[in-house]
Amino acid sequence: MSKYIFVTGGVVSSVGKGITVASIGTILKSRQIAVSVQKLDPYLNVDPGTMSPYQHGEVFVTQDGAETDLDLGNYERFIDVNLTAESSVTSGQIYSAVITKERQGDFLGGTIQVVPHVTTEIKERFKQLAQKSKAEVVIIEVGGTVGDIEGQPFLEAIRQMRNDVGRDNVLYVHVTLLPYLNSTQEVKTKPTQHSVNELRRIGIQPDIIVCRSDYPISEEIRDKISLFCDVERQAVIPLPTVSTIYEVPLVLEEEGLGQLIVGKLGLNPRQTDLSQWQELVNLIKTPREPVNIALVGEYVELKDVYFSVREALHHAALYHGRDIELTWVPEEALEADGGDSVLRSAQGIIVTGGLGVKRIEGMIKAATYARENNIPYLGLCLGMHAMVIEFARHVLGSAEPNSTEFDASTRYPVIDLLPEQKDKENKGGTMRLGNYPCQLVDGSHAASAYGQSLVHERHRHRYEFNNQFRAQLEKAGMVYSGLSPDGRLVELCELANHPWMMSCQFHPEFGSRPGRPHPLFRDFIGIAKNVLREGAQPPLPLSP
Ligand code: GLN
Repeated sequence: MSKYIFVTGGVVSSVGKGITVASIGTILKSRQIAVSVQKLDPYLNVDPGTMSPYQHGEVFVTQDGAETDLDLGNYERFIDVNLTAESSVTSGQIYSAVITKERQGDFLGGTIQVVPHVTTEIKERFKQLAQKSKAEVVIIEVGGTVGDIEGQPFLEAIRQMRNDVGRDNVLYVHVTLLPYLNSTQEVKTKPTQHSVNELRRIGIQPDIIVCRSDYPISEEIRDKISLFCDVERQAVIPLPTVSTIYEVPLVLEEEGLGQLIVGKLGLNPRQTDLSQWQELVNLIKTPREPVNIALVGEYVELKDVYFSVREALHHAALYHGRDIELTWVPEEALEADGGDSVLRSAQGIIVTGGLGVKRIEGMIKAATYARENNIPYLGLCLGMHAMVIEFARHVLGSAEPNSTEFDASTRYPVIDLLPEQKDKENKGGTMRLGNYPCQLVDGSHAASAYGQSLVHERHRHRYEFNNQFRAQLEKAGMVYSGLSPDGRLVELCELANHPWMMSCQFHPEFGSRPGRPHPLFRDFIGIAKNVLREGAQPPLPLSP
């Protein structure tokens, strides 16, 4: 039977609860303990797929096509697992399942209540994941902070679990913030005491408290938290802010968290091996020469929207012993001019995906700039649409080619919905989501990057390359380097007369891992690092 670790948050959100959960997974996995992870999101949306990036940041897509919270991306990257839809639970899913059962008459005339009906449905999700993943330990993160109205049913459900599966099989970890007061120059524990009180009020006594702080945490502070919150001294784990998120598992291990969890859950003690992780962190902390990459997108002021893209770029740069200097380029900045002012020093240009975005013209300008100046280009989903539209405009000598997403009546709909999607449009469900196979074409840059002939990649889009234009663009130098196995869908395209101009209909960023960069990102940076741009040339020696 699986054991459960429930992780709650106190005081404020965004203190790094997700990274802590991912790191607990890393330190358990480093002991050869099989783990799985689940995120409970208290909002009423069934999934974040319909939420605006302004509300939610990145939507992470699992291999089986679930649209989930970006924390799942961190779980996948840290623990190196591919999670499934069962790892993402929202209040919306829970209520909708309970109400569907009620309508079907499953509850036999009973009054449907939060306790027990909603809490039972929540606990079912825990058990389903445990069964399906066969993990020895399932780590479950409760989204939001203790005290939120929406989070109550989740907290009640995790409280009940202690009785359901036995207290030796359940562990409660509370991640909290210790604020620093400048006037008195001290770290304060009172908010933590309050949030632990709030947890206790609903019947949960934390076993471990992880204390986030921007400042060092003294022994006295640890003693105080131990005393007031009734947690053993060694179970008060300080987690000061570190320079890279990948250092967090090392800090937690150093503080004895792994040992503590193994002891408390009665797991067999096993040898820990975090050496690869240590090497990774050493490498990240070593100063490396940067590669200047311009990231073009509609929401660049919200860096979290591109969380996985940014991580994938860093993984690729690390592979080449380089760093990434990212220039965030808002799409509209390119719409105004040809792009030279913002792209002049870029050694590579990445054009990101976007669902429900309003504009693409700036992205098309970025593609023109990359093609004309031989700058390496990586187009991700919408970035592929931009590259195809740009090339068609160039080849046809017309400004008209477009995607029907942006111009429904264009004479040259080079990107369009498939005929069968058009029929379905009114009924919704037109999105291609999750893993699809892609057959690579020999001799292409894509095939040489992957080094294999069939790959599976994660999708999240509606529009596709329009096959009516395939032959015409191919004649002008577009190479369709990845196709669906039936040959119908263009999944990857590149330009023949360009050092490396590549686009994919899928989202490779979700599959990148620290220490194992995605092949397309790896080769993109591999080519970009050797591109000389303004400001990148070594200075000339001054003549005497
Ligand atoms: N908006 C485009 C589509 O729906 C691209 C989506 C994306 O970039 N993920 O096809």
